[in-house]
Amino acid sequence: MPHDKLQTTITGSLPKPAWLCEPLKLWSPWRLEGTALREGQQDAVRLVLQDQERAGIDIVSDGEQTRQHFVTTFIERLAGVDFKQTRTMRIRDRYDAQVPVVTGAVARKEPIYVENARFLRSQTQRLAKFTLPGPMTMVDTLYDDYYHSRPKLAAEFARILNAEAREIAAAGIDVIQFDEPAFNVFFDEVRDYGIETLEQAAEGLPCKTAVHICYGYGIKQNTDWKETLGSEWRQYEQTFPLLQKSKIDQVSLECHNSRVPIDLIDLLKGKDVLVGAIDVTTDQIETPDEVAATLRKALRFVAPDKLFPCTNCGMVPLSRNVAMEKLRALSAGAALVRQTLA
Ligand code: ZN
Repeated sequence: MPHDKLQTTITGSLPKPAWLCEPLKLWSPWRLEGTALREGQQDAVRLVLQDQERAGIDIVSDGEQTRQHFVTTFIERLAGVDFKQTRTMRIRDRYDAQVPVVTGAVARKEPIYVENARFLRSQTQRLAKFTLPGPMTMVDTLYDDYYHSRPKLAAEFARILNAEAREIAAAGIDVIQFDEPAFNVFFDEVRDYGIETLEQAAEGLPCKTAVHICYGYGIKQNTDWKETLGSEWRQYEQTFPLLQKSKIDQVSLECHNSRVPIDLIDLLKGKDVLVGAIDVTTDQIETPDEVAATLRKALRFVAPDKLFPCTNCGMVPLSRNVAMEKLRALSAGAALVRQTLA
């Protein structure tokens, strides 16, 4: 039985086994192919589910074991995007990357992750969460040589995501989360079309809907960027009031070891809040007391049945041991707080 208060969950990704791809690396290429790859990915999903269940995570995910990248693995399956040509583009206003080019009308030719969602559902009795990239972050991971309009392209992606999300929800998934790290960078665009396209992506879903907004993995480009943000990170102050008025049920944010003022959670009144109580940028394992301290601070602004202890971001670049220890710490910290609530 899941807990009725402080239900633990994770942002999304977990490290992959070394036989599936090279560990400790983002966007690491697969070591298998064809049928062996598909079977290997499913075996990896079974393992991360067992790890999460043993660690006491209430709402589990497939750890994104079937994806090389949280955005491009989705985009690769769409019509209208050419991966043979690439252009250099500034990502999240932070670093240059080689990205594929939109050369025609984007379309979903076939279901993308729906089989994966069915497999996840078949392998666990727990509440299950599935992640998808958000429309604005997808736009920010491509060079658009066709629409020449970020809002137009975001609206097209929202339509595609909604079709995909409806089928994922129909597979029995309990929470669908859209990852929108771009929401922490392009504030005018969030206001002008980001919230609207996010809501379009989530429209009519029978399950819970969530959005994850963070300061990124622990890669150097992100840690350098964080150094420029000053002593208080107030980026959420711009987006939370807009999300509070939106139809999205849950907001996942970064808290532990970050300079985000905890009282910004107050701007999300009425929403479920996924409080990041695990730092994904360090191998140091949080103690249960540290996790509990972060959760108690958040409890000043959100009720215990609306607070979901979570990780700050995905754990894919960490070692499997470190990720497992961090999952245990998350659970143990939540348990400490539950004791004092009772
Ligand atoms: Zn994140």
